Amino acid sequence: MPLIAVTCMYDDKERRSFLKDGYIQALERVGAVAAVLPPSLSPQASAQALSRMDGLLLSGGTDVAPLRYGQQPRPNLGPVDPLRDEQEFALVRKAIELGLPILGICRGMQVINAVLGGDLIQHIDGNIQHQQQAPGWHRHHSVRIEPGTILARALGRSELGVNSFHHQAVGTVAPGLKVSARSPDGIIEAVESSEPWILAVQWHPELMWQRHEEFLGIFRAFVGACRGEENG
Ligand code: MN
Repeated sequence: MPLIAVTCMYDDKERRSFLKDGYIQALERVGAVAAVLPPSLSPQASAQALSRMDGLLLSGGTDVAPLRYGQQPRPNLGPVDPLRDEQEFALVRKAIELGLPILGICRGMQVINAVLGGDLIQHIDGNIQHQQQAPGWHRHHSVRIEPGTILARALGRSELGVNSFHHQAVGTVAPGLKVSARSPDGIIEAVESSEPWILAVQWHPELMWQRHEEFLGIFRAFVGACRGEENG
């Protein structure tokens, strides 16, 4: 049974870590077990722990500190979490070194892109609302999925309604990553790579799979890759 390192949120004021249970339950549903690594664990210990695991899941959260991708903070930047940035950057580097598959969700996608040398749009200001005010399972906007991608195989479709809880987005795509989905306003909604195995989405499948089963396909493809199955 694959053991998956899962990152989580950190509340600096209360000094506690937390994570929505949809991630843990989705992994269990597809046959894997989540091992949550709190940001208060040092980057060194986190990387060491990863070497005993089979994959890395970067969960959603706050904004990445802009200096990490070569920008100054703009006025509409949201909250950042330097402790978590440090941990997750170390984890992504270690996962690539170890050849472990990586699944990035929302912030997780932005972290992967920043680590690999891309940058972010600090605040989306366009014609489609990307911060829905509706339940997490609600399909808020559509995305078009590139045929022939890992994502297209995982979901089994070329167009999909997804939820949306982000005010930032991938800007310049990092070398080695390719765009596998966009919303109609051109915002990048998914990126991926087959070597190393990376799949990352801007939406939150962990809030959708209980009502819309196709979203489990994302977790299934990831855990399959963690098991060393070819069909990634
Ligand atoms: Mn969106």
